Amino acid sequence: MIRLTGDFSRFSPDAMHFRLLYGPGAGDLPQCDETGTTIWPGGIDVWHRPPYTVRAIDPEGDWIDVDIFIHDGGRVTDWLARTQVGDNVALSGPGGKTPQSAPRVAYLGDETALPVVARALERLPQDARGVA
Ligand SMILES: Cc1cc2nc3c(=O)[nH]c(=O)nc-3n(C[C@H](O)[C@H](O)[C@H](O)COP(=O)(O)OP(=O)(O)OC[C@H]3O[C@@H](n4cnc5c(N)ncnc54)[C@H](O)[C@@H]3O)c2cc1C
Repeated sequence: MIRLTGDFSRFSPDAMHFRLLYGPGAGDLPQCDETGTTIWPGGIDVWHRPPYTVRAIDPEGDWIDVDIFIHDGGRVTDWLARTQVGDNVALSGPGGKTPQSAPRVAYLGDETALPVVARALERLPQDARGVA
């Protein structure tokens, strides 16, 4: 789990997902021009923008927690190995929909889906039935 601190006031308690923005080099971050179009330094194709799940969010909007599955060859895995407390992280979001409840539920997924499955399970009523 990593904790990202900053201004997350745009993230409601229901915020589900965001994208890490992993660019071609340190320094230049995407910016919006006067028309609202995002300008990606080096072009959008050179940016790695994997989606992640908000595992937990501070009610005051000062931090979010993220569970990241570490796997060989992953660019985020490599980045995490080099990252230190205090480094800047760019992200976009939030996005995604809150899972709906139902009389009976089934959640299937690989390790990367565990955070969203956990979020969904937390929201279920006490008498919910199903499998995860
Ligand atoms: C809506 C949504 C929410 C997500 N939430 C989370 C989350 O909370 N936590 C989380 O860890 N992931 C989450 N993921 C998955 C994550 O976005 C992907 O695993 C992403 O590719 C990770 O980027 P990377 O830099 O680690 O790997 P990349 O650099 O994109 O991939 C490098 C290599 O690793 C392989 N690879 C990619 N993912 C995996 C994997 N899971 N297992 C084994 N090999 C892999 C690729 O095929 C490629 O060969 C989510 C995905 C979606 C769609």
